[in-house]
Amino acid sequence: MAKETLEFQAETKRLLDLVINSIYTNKEIFLRELISNASDAIDKLHFESLTNPNLLEGDDNFEIFVLPDKNTKTLTISDNGIGMTRSEVISNIGTIAKSGTKAFLEKIKADDGKFDEELIGQFGVGFYSAFIVSDKVELITKRAGETSAVKWTSEGAGDYTIEDCEKDKRGTTIILHLKPECSSDEEYNFLETHTLETLIKKYSDYIRYPIKMNFVSRDENDKETIEVRTVNSMQPLWSRNKAEIKPAEYDEFFKHQFHEWETPLEIYHTKAEGTTEYTALLCIPKRAAVNLYYADYEGGLQLYSRHVYIMDKCKDFLPDYLRFVKGLVDSPDLPLNISREILQQSREVKKIGNALEKNILKQLAKMLKNDRAKYETFWLEFGKSLKIGVYNSLYDEKVKDNLKDLLLFTSSKEGKLITLAEYVENMPENQQKIYCAVGNSAETISKMPQMEMIQERGMEVLCLIDPVDEFAISALQKYADKDFQFINREDFELDDEEAKKAKSEVEELAKSHEELLKDVKDAIGDEVFQVRLTSGLKTGAVCLATGATGPSLNMEKTFAAMNNPFMKAVRILEINPKHEIFKKLSGLHALGKDSADFKDFCNLLYAQALLIEGIMPKNPVELANKIADLMIK
Ligand code: ADP
Repeated sequence: MAKETLEFQAETKRLLDLVINSIYTNKEIFLRELISNASDAIDKLHFESLTNPNLLEGDDNFEIFVLPDKNTKTLTISDNGIGMTRSEVISNIGTIAKSGTKAFLEKIKADDGKFDEELIGQFGVGFYSAFIVSDKVELITKRAGETSAVKWTSEGAGDYTIEDCEKDKRGTTIILHLKPECSSDEEYNFLETHTLETLIKKYSDYIRYPIKMNFVSRDENDKETIEVRTVNSMQPLWSRNKAEIKPAEYDEFFKHQFHEWETPLEIYHTKAEGTTEYTALLCIPKRAAVNLYYADYEGGLQLYSRHVYIMDKCKDFLPDYLRFVKGLVDSPDLPLNISREILQQSREVKKIGNALEKNILKQLAKMLKNDRAKYETFWLEFGKSLKIGVYNSLYDEKVKDNLKDLLLFTSSKEGKLITLAEYVENMPENQQKIYCAVGNSAETISKMPQMEMIQERGMEVLCLIDPVDEFAISALQKYADKDFQFINREDFELDDEEAKKAKSEVEELAKSHEELLKDVKDAIGDEVFQVRLTSGLKTGAVCLATGATGPSLNMEKTFAAMNNPFMKAVRILEINPKHEIFKKLSGLHALGKDSADFKDFCNLLYAQALLIEGIMPKNPVELANKIADLMIK
């Protein structure tokens, strides 16, 4: 096929732009990224060759070669892994398929054009990190089992070229044309054998395949001899004794193995012996992947048997709510040629998975108890995952039981994060239920008219700020035998004597104003199910409540966003009879229920209640005009 010039996908262009124009403090990581890719490519070939040994064509001396050339100022990294076909190169190297990429890149842009190396870390630029040090990159690759090879070339600007070429053996060769500052002793010199050797030892020591380099020596007659040596020790980190592994080694390992840019938040290294034998090395990353909650996110653990790679992204070990956990399991009890289907039914996998799940939950509970600040950092990144776990386990009491004490919610008191146990502990004696409210922030919730009476009594409310909070709470149903009570549901009432007395007085009053309340409802129309008087408001004039069961206003919004406009909350307009507005309302009612002033007044009350809930009234222009009329009256 002829030489083609193709454009990068818009997201790739933007990412490349960031990589090229940013000042990296840590330029050297490009080597780790490219060696990781090379090692992954060999893993893939090894795995495919289990079912198709012909792919190896008799050559199973897997290796990665790093070759600097001072004359051409190039650094070449080659592997004899799986390689890529022309179309694989186009789809793997020219595009980024991750969901959330666009949103992520926009976020970076919004930061005043400033580029946060850590921020991009959660994204992982992978192959594109080659452009941190190069002004031109060539990739020559031949897929195992194919006869033709392709060459991809780019200077990282908007496009790249791709053409057929010659290549003897399968695998991928990447030629980096180093930028002047990366190939001289001014700043970095990635052409120095010694520098490269140090970097490989530092970042890639435990790569399972030999990383080879040429070492040149001269004898007394200045005769040059070249010796090929393997630079890395190849001993998998997880097989070493825990006590001898330094924290920095673990950190580097995770960066390498899982394409993480930041050091993990927490690392678990466990070995189990007995009926089921395994070693697991797991971590909780510092930040959630940008696509963690998208359908295309692929969680799962890597699987090894006796240090030999079997496969990636095995989802059968951990439950979905731990999708953010990264790591690997190495077990001699699993056969090398195990397929994904057999894996799903394997008793060993279930056993290992259960033990790992238990262990992670135990460690999280420990973190919550002993290092609250760290747990809160964890929670802000991954709490959503656990909450979705609760919601998805509506009928699975065991999962709910495991997770309920790990949940945090924002308290209406100072906006702090609290556990359900802490909430219950803070409850005054006469409070029977756990109060909750839905809103955008603890601040908006604490300003809700219903909050006054609650705050006056020194009680707190769980602020359900994340849309999934309410679903999780509904799935839990109870905590420590206490029901959850939404403060804007019609059945909300305070439990003390004073509140009960106020309630019965208002009920009496309502009886004598039945007609008024009915006429207010008629004036507003079908949008409200009922209009009633409430004893739950102090200085506020009105509020909106929803039926005791059925969707809440928040769920209605969530369902509408999911194109389900039929899940509607039952809306009840509540009026405070102690407010001056009630007298005025009664006065206008005396003019007749069909009077324009009465009708306008009723609709204005309803509009206020909607605004308090953050809902836009149906006709905002009409509302604004009515307010203007009132203001000049
Ligand atoms: P990631 O490795 O995180 O998927 P990269 O940008 O580093 O992202 O690489 C994109 C894809 O390109 C890889 O998933 C892989 O399919 C392919 N690739 C990269 N390097 C190689 C290589 N040396 N051999 C074969 N395929 C490769």
